[in-house]
Amino acid sequence: MAIQTINPATNKVEKTFSEMTAEDVNEAITKSAETFEAWKNTDYKYRSALLHKVAGLLRERKKALATLITLEMGKLVAQAEGEIKLSAEIFDYYANHAEDFLADKLLKPVHGQALIRHSPIGALLGVQPWNFPFYQVARFAAPNIMIGNTILIKHASIVPQCSIAIEEIFKSAGAPDGLYTNLLISGKRASALVSDKRIKGVSLTGSEAAGASIAAEAGKYLKKSVLELGGSDAFIILEDADIDKTVEWAVVGRINNNGECCVASKRFIAVESISASFLEKFKNKLAALIIGNPMDNASQLGPLSSEAAAVQISEQVQRAVEGGAKILLGGKRVDREGAFMQPTILTNMLPGNPVYYEEFFGPVAVFYTVKNEQEAIDLANDSPFGLGCSVFTQDIERGKQVANKIDTGMVFINHPTWTQADLPFGGTKGSGYGRELSELGMDEFVNKKLIRVSELSDPF
Ligand code: NAP
Repeated sequence: MAIQTINPATNKVEKTFSEMTAEDVNEAITKSAETFEAWKNTDYKYRSALLHKVAGLLRERKKALATLITLEMGKLVAQAEGEIKLSAEIFDYYANHAEDFLADKLLKPVHGQALIRHSPIGALLGVQPWNFPFYQVARFAAPNIMIGNTILIKHASIVPQCSIAIEEIFKSAGAPDGLYTNLLISGKRASALVSDKRIKGVSLTGSEAAGASIAAEAGKYLKKSVLELGGSDAFIILEDADIDKTVEWAVVGRINNNGECCVASKRFIAVESISASFLEKFKNKLAALIIGNPMDNASQLGPLSSEAAAVQISEQVQRAVEGGAKILLGGKRVDREGAFMQPTILTNMLPGNPVYYEEFFGPVAVFYTVKNEQEAIDLANDSPFGLGCSVFTQDIERGKQVANKIDTGMVFINHPTWTQADLPFGGTKGSGYGRELSELGMDEFVNKKLIRVSELSDPF
């Protein structure tokens, strides 16, 4: 894939970049590994000051960075500003809390003393997606830089200017050369890097195919890996839900980020007593969305991230229909330039439909009616994915009981699956493994080293 900025609102090529050569990449890895040797000996105060500077620069440059996000991947500009704000919060969060999270943990063995010390492991490779170009990087880079690791980022080929802007922010903040390095290369070259002895671990956020490729290499070369992959979150509406408020959240859950969220609500499952009234209101709200230029604050739904993404989802809708699904709303490309897709509702999606188990990465909601709570749980769990799920009910205890029975990494009650610095994020099943954010986000690429002190005695 060419490394290019193509504005998805117009499909015009804005800028083309040359890929780094194999020699450039080799030099970057050498520098990252060398910098690790010094960085691992810096103290938390120093690392923390750097990350606070990064957070400050993100806030200072918020408008320009948000414009870049919108230009490259089509996110509504107000949401792009929200992404920059969230990314700054993540850098501040780890700057503030890492020292506590990484403090020695005293053990209580039967004899003598023992503790767990958290040590960094080295240069890490992060393969990142385009859908949140800054936030995804923040949640990988911030905890690992605080641990003492160094970072090499292979960002998605369609957001080169965002990836360059992040590297520049680290430079402006005074990061040493090699602490944070951008690898401007295509995806097909990324997996091969995992075999490099100087790279000690790898994290990928993206599709199952790319995840499987990275994980296979990590397994072959015995490297630690974290995978944050796709999802097909269920949005369960129980009979006691507040329908009007639930409909508002259903719209947000589906079309936030133009529908291109791993944790977007994708399968709407309503119990039959309220199903018709929910669906009518949901349909009306989606139909009324203002589709337009993502730079315009009046727009409520922008384009998909690329023409290829728009073609893919419209063909997926077509396959769903051929497999027996019915279109209740939308279903087509929008008749204007750019990668726009109509907000769409599919019904009559039955097992056996070729797309039944697929993720819809765009503004396409699949709607199901079920008899009762148990059927809703069974349907929610009937997915190869296990990322998030949401349950809408006025009975919080009941919501928690439902959450117990859902096979996903995250369950939200009365809110679509969401993210913030102090909540762990990650999935099970085909959605990957490992966690990012919160204290758990510091657990992945760290050596939890046992230090044991014994009374000197005679050997056995
Ligand atoms: P993608 O095609 O897998 O791309 C993600 C990253 O992987 C890009 O940097 C890409 O580089 C690289 N890549 C592609 N093929 C690769 C390979 N064979 N080996 C190594 N790296 C490779 O995914 P996407 O289309 O950008 O993102 C959509 C998917 O990501 C969806 O399934 C979504 O749900 C998931 N996602 C998950 C999370 C989460 O936290 N769980 C968050 C966001 C997105 P190029 O751009 O150069 O191809």
